[in-house]
Amino acid sequence: MLRWFGDIWNQAGFGKPAEPRPRSGRWPRVEQNAFIRDGFRCRACGRHQSKVKIVGHHARPYHLFPDEELDLNNVLTMCQPMGGGCHLRLGHLGADGSCRWVNWNPNVVADAAKELKSK
Ligand SMILES: [Zn+2]
Ligand SMILES: [Zn+2]
Repeated sequence: MLRWFGDIWNQAGFGKPAEPRPRSGRWPRVEQNAFIRDGFRCRACGRHQSKVKIVGHHARPYHLFPDEELDLNNVLTMCQPMGGGCHLRLGHLGADGSCRWVNWNPNVVADAAKELKSK
């Protein structure tokens, strides 16, 4: 079903968008569930939502793996303060804080766990 939608999407000329395609209406619930599972803390630095903005990051990007957009196992809580935070740095390898959403770190789960452990 999702794959079918992706095909239609690509045929319509929206493939490889600069901006990721719109998210499912169910995404906010999945993201919220990831926050709850992770205790509203960044999986890499451990900072809490009360200290820093947090977002749900797809370990495998949903523009490449659309079937995993709503898979809780594919979502990590990461911090995203102004300038990037763990989300951009670890999740999208934006070392200089610039936004490169197409970059992604296939080892983000392990890398985040390693950082958290070293705290
Ligand atoms: Zn963080
Ligand atoms: Zn992300």
